[in-house]
Amino acid sequence: MSACGRFAPSTTGRAHPGTLLAALLCWLDARSSGARVLLRLEDLDRERTKPGHVEAMERDLDWFGLDWDGRSRQSENRERHEEILERLVREGRVYACDCSRTRIRMAGRRAPDGGFAYPGTCRSQVVSPDRWRGCERPLRLRIESREIEWSDENGSTLSGDPVRLFGDPILRRRDGAIAYHLATVLDDAAAGVDRVVRGRDLMPVTILQIALQQDLGLARPAYRHHCLFLEKAEAGSDADGQTKLSKLHGAVDVAALRERYEAEALCGALASFVGLVPAGTVCRPRDLIADFDWSRVSKEDVVLAWDARDGLRRERACEGEAGAGGAGIRRG
Ligand SMILES: [Zn+2]
Repeated sequence: MSACGRFAPSTTGRAHPGTLLAALLCWLDARSSGARVLLRLEDLDRERTKPGHVEAMERDLDWFGLDWDGRSRQSENRERHEEILERLVREGRVYACDCSRTRIRMAGRRAPDGGFAYPGTCRSQVVSPDRWRGCERPLRLRIESREIEWSDENGSTLSGDPVRLFGDPILRRRDGAIAYHLATVLDDAAAGVDRVVRGRDLMPVTILQIALQQDLGLARPAYRHHCLFLEKAEAGSDADGQTKLSKLHGAVDVAALRERYEAEALCGALASFVGLVPAGTVCRPRDLIADFDWSRVSKEDVVLAWDARDGLRRERACEGEAGAGGAGIRRG
């Protein structure tokens, strides 16, 4: 069977330039190597996924010129997710945890993704097969302590013990939604995804997802994490006088982009920002397949500025502090 990648955006808002870059790179990775590529709309966050978000995401990606070998919504997989949860509960590996964020923060262990590691406080609160469905507390999986060695296709490595780095992951949230890490690894495995291409901001959590794959007996895909679009944060600069950067999110969404750009002009602009084509190129995603090579994609994050009249402008490349800023990551 041919290799299979996927683009899996969350549908909690409209696409932004970073969403389109991630979609484009993931799609080019597959299309340039004969792999299949699936679109999976991650709509499990019921509070933040508003009516119309899923359809808008699909329409925006269609407009941009991307096509898919299959489309799915993560919420369609709920039954399968729950079957696996049931199995884990029966194996006595799931417990209920009611620790507040404050309480977890007080334990004081920073996690590589910028949050705090869960110290395992409630590990003894194992839920029984007849009680877990009605449980109103978040459910966590007890994972085994061990060292995981992992390296990314671009040479970055992140190794360590997932229990020490992150603590036991949440499987089902307080609102009943299946948690992101569990849904991601289950859906990748069910669809036969063996290549995961995504932004560098997700690199730190890969070790936790690998731990889940191992503990659930799932195959590990190959991973590649790419550069991000950043912007100057509103706050300006931090105490050291360094410009603060954040992911280019709030400033411009695809609705604003579509008022300013034709799809071909936007595709050319985004591709030029990461070094794939010269500035000023106008192209469709398919025009980029023949020459696509990861060695031509910027290794460094790219700082962009936006205004409605001039559109997007590349300011500079930088070692992205908003990206994989976690402990223990060595960049290749
Ligand atoms: Zn707890």
